[in-house]
Amino acid sequence: MEKEFDIEEFRDFIESKIITLYKRSDSIKKEDLLDSLLEFDNESLHKKLKIKTSSACSQKLSRIFKDNIKDKPRNVSINDWFLFLFNYRVCHSCKQFLPLSTYYYLESNWSGYHPSCKKCSSNYKKDNREHILEQGKDYYQRNKQKILERTSDYYYKNKEQYKIRHKKYREENPDKVLFWANKYRAKKLQATLPLTKELEDEILAFYIERNILIEETNEEYEVDHIIPLQGENVCGLHVPWNLQVITRRENRSKGNKF
Ligand SMILES: [Zn+2]
Repeated sequence: MEKEFDIEEFRDFIESKIITLYKRSDSIKKEDLLDSLLEFDNESLHKKLKIKTSSACSQKLSRIFKDNIKDKPRNVSINDWFLFLFNYRVCHSCKQFLPLSTYYYLESNWSGYHPSCKKCSSNYKKDNREHILEQGKDYYQRNKQKILERTSDYYYKNKEQYKIRHKKYREENPDKVLFWANKYRAKKLQATLPLTKELEDEILAFYIERNILIEETNEEYEVDHIIPLQGENVCGLHVPWNLQVITRRENRSKGNKF
C-alpha cells in the first residue's frame, strides 16, 4: 500500500526542521515561513496542495534562506533544494516526499540520488523488464564498437596487471584452478548434477589430495573420472563417486575405453 501524502505531516516535518535550523533567529515568523514553504514552486506539491505560486513568497523565503540557497543548482526548484537539505526528496513517480535513504544512488543527478524512490524504481524495472532488456540490447548494438574498444582498451592498458594477478592466483591455488576448470568442462558436457556444498567440497578434496601427492612424491598425479566424461559408449558424471587420484601414467594407459 502506498502512503498517502499527508499535508499535516509535511507541515510538522518542515516545522521541526525549521526550528532546529533557525532556532537562533527569533525574527523569523514560523507561521510565515511554513506558509511560504508550502506555497513554493514545486509542481508535484502544487498539484497535491492545489495552491498557486506566489513570487512574493519565494522572494521572501529566498531572503531568509540566503545562505542555504547559494549552493543550489540553477535548474533545481527551491522546494526540492530545501527538502534535499533536510535529506528528503519528492519522488517523481509516486509524488511522496521521502527520506533520501529510500532512493538509490545516482551520481549523474544533482542530488546524487535517483529521481524516483527505490520502490518506484524497482516497480518500473519489474513492469518494464522486457522493454529495458530491449533498450539495453539496442544500446549495445548501436554502441558495440565503442563498448568493445573501451573494454579492450581498458584490458590492454592493464594487461600486465591482469596477467600477474592471474598467474599469482593460479600458482597459489592450483587445486582450485583445476577444480573450476573441470567443473566448467563437466558443465559444458552436461555431466553435472546439482550438488550440495558438502559434495562440492568432496570434489575439491580430490584436487587438494592430488597436489599433496605431487609435492610429496615428485610424480605427476591427476584427478581422473573413473567413467570418463566423454567415453566411447557411456558418459560419466563430475561427481565425487566418479573421481579418483591416479598417476598421469596410469591415466594415459587407461584411455577412454568405456
Ligand atoms: Zn516513489
